[in-house]
Amino acid sequence: MKQSMMEIMGSEGGEEHLRESEKEAPARKVGSLHPPRAAGGSVMPSMQTRARPQKILKKIKNKMSSREKISPNFYLDEFECKCSCGANDISMDLVRRIQEVRDTLGEPMRITSGVRCSSHNASPSVGGSPNSSHIEGNSTAVDIACHNSVYRQKLLKSIMPVFDRVGIAKTFIHCDVDPNKTAGVIWLY
Ligand SMILES: [Zn+2]
Ligand SMILES: [Zn+2]
Repeated sequence: MKQSMMEIMGSEGGEEHLRESEKEAPARKVGSLHPPRAAGGSVMPSMQTRARPQKILKKIKNKMSSREKISPNFYLDEFECKCSCGANDISMDLVRRIQEVRDTLGEPMRITSGVRCSSHNASPSVGGSPNSSHIEGNSTAVDIACHNSVYRQKLLKSIMPVFDRVGIAKTFIHCDVDPNKTAGVIWLY
């Protein structure tokens, strides 16, 4: 009885996966519906988890192909809230300036924070100020990853002609175009 329940559950999961990817991977149908059994008769744990990496890869591929490019080097999802809530109302003036920085720099830039919903901003992992320029609705800020002094120098050189509000932290540089805050400032975290 226990064994047949496992069988039913196993094939249901397999079929759900197959409906999405039948065309690309017909061979998976056989494997998913008839997983090899361990000596005790139960489904081998390694076979139960095997479909997952492919499923994740497919999701990533789908996401990649539907990514919206908003400047020559940046996609909209790079500015999206990191909590996966989907908030992405980034200032296009900011994006235009970030692209200018990227053009001068001539090297990749990784955005570690763009738009933040208020709950993500307040979360302990972020610890953003309640009137942060990253917050959804007035999202005019980005943080750019920066982990060494050579890159920091090049990055700052490219940022300075473009932004007049810059924050320097150990592992990132913040730039914003918040019209409600003092212009012409550089601060440290
Ligand atoms: Zn969020
Ligand atoms: Zn920031």
